[in-house]
Amino acid sequence: MPATTDFSTAYCTKHKIIMEDISSKDIDELKKYLGSLGEKPFRANQIYKWLHQSLATDFSQMTDLSKALREKLSNEAYITVPEPVDIQISREDGTRKYLFRLPDDSLVESVLMKYRFGWSVCISSQVGCRMGCAFCASGMDGLLRGLTPGEMLGQIEAIQRDVFSDTTDCAKKHEEHTTDCAEKHEGHTTDCAQEHGNRTDPKAPSVPKPDSEEYLRNRISHVVVMGTGEPLDNYDNLLIFIRMLTDENGLHISQRNLTVSTCGIVPRIKELAEKKLEITLALSLHAPTQEKRRELMPVANKYDISEAVGAMKYYQDTTGRRVTFEYSLIKGVNDTDEDAEQLSSLLWRGAHINLIPVNPVKERTFAAPTRAAAIDFQRKLEKFGINATIRREMGQDIDGACGQLRRRHLER
Ligand code: SAH
Repeated sequence: MPATTDFSTAYCTKHKIIMEDISSKDIDELKKYLGSLGEKPFRANQIYKWLHQSLATDFSQMTDLSKALREKLSNEAYITVPEPVDIQISREDGTRKYLFRLPDDSLVESVLMKYRFGWSVCISSQVGCRMGCAFCASGMDGLLRGLTPGEMLGQIEAIQRDVFSDTTDCAKKHEEHTTDCAEKHEGHTTDCAQEHGNRTDPKAPSVPKPDSEEYLRNRISHVVVMGTGEPLDNYDNLLIFIRMLTDENGLHISQRNLTVSTCGIVPRIKELAEKKLEITLALSLHAPTQEKRRELMPVANKYDISEAVGAMKYYQDTTGRRVTFEYSLIKGVNDTDEDAEQLSSLLWRGAHINLIPVNPVKERTFAAPTRAAAIDFQRKLEKFGINATIRREMGQDIDGACGQLRRRHLER
């Protein structure tokens, strides 16, 4: 199956017909579709709001549409509602890792993190991945398919429903008793997923009004596309997703609050630069030289490290948005003094690099350096004029590394 697939329609085995993927239509596409049904364009605005602001999960909830239209839509279109099948909650920091089942039974992971600035969600862009990075669990079984715009958005929307319903009922509980709840969640992940699943009951979304204090306090404000998959390998759907995510009639998340991370598909980085969006772009670098990078990341066989860094510079210069580099520190592989020196000459003064102690995956022997060694590496980079931060790892006590939760489920 190609990495980017047109999922604007899908075959429904229940109804034995082709169904419209209404959750993946941006406002223009939705207008076209409603027009084809003989409806006025304002209906598209109403439906868009129902789907992406009120987070409706069923056409029957769209009470300002005629019954006839609701029925027509139910018969020929479907809403993408990822179903949570497992939720793990970190005892340490409340980070939640979700495993969602998609309509075709594929599984994808997403993560919810609470920062001082608010809620941030990390989403997957593909089912599996074909980039084959040596240290990553996501790519071990290859790529199944790219996610639809509705499935990327759907992960955020499902989590947003969960956060909103949390604040109304069970989660005052979470806030007051994080430890108890984490224990409970850890002991009974399946029960809890069901419990969470029930709270996202299709018939009862409990979403506050968009301008209410409760909405503003609990809305997801930041999104990172750093879960499973290579977003630039699902480029067309990624662009639709960005349009929909930032639409003022939807979740209305600012482009500046969206980070897309890529392993370095050079032509796509340049194409994206030309779009002059305001999103933050991050390059997974992970090595200071072409030779070392090729050992860790097969994508380097196609695009040389200097081309990848050059494309990032081009993105920064064209969009005026500062780019970032990600660097997983692997003990004895890329964390020596020489590595720090080579890394500094590869990048430019003032470049920003995020150091991430590698998350061990059980299929590989890679280990993270000690905290002291990581700080030492950071200092060396700073001495050369590179801004380096050590990423605070969230949810270390749950299936933290990219793709681990999904793999565990697939192995069952
Ligand atoms: N394909 C994209 C986004 C997905 S991976 C990319 O390559 O950027 C998100 C980030 O997690 C990438 O920087 C990736 O290299 C990193 N990563 C994957 N497995 C990891 C592990 N076991 N430890 C630390 N970082 C890891």
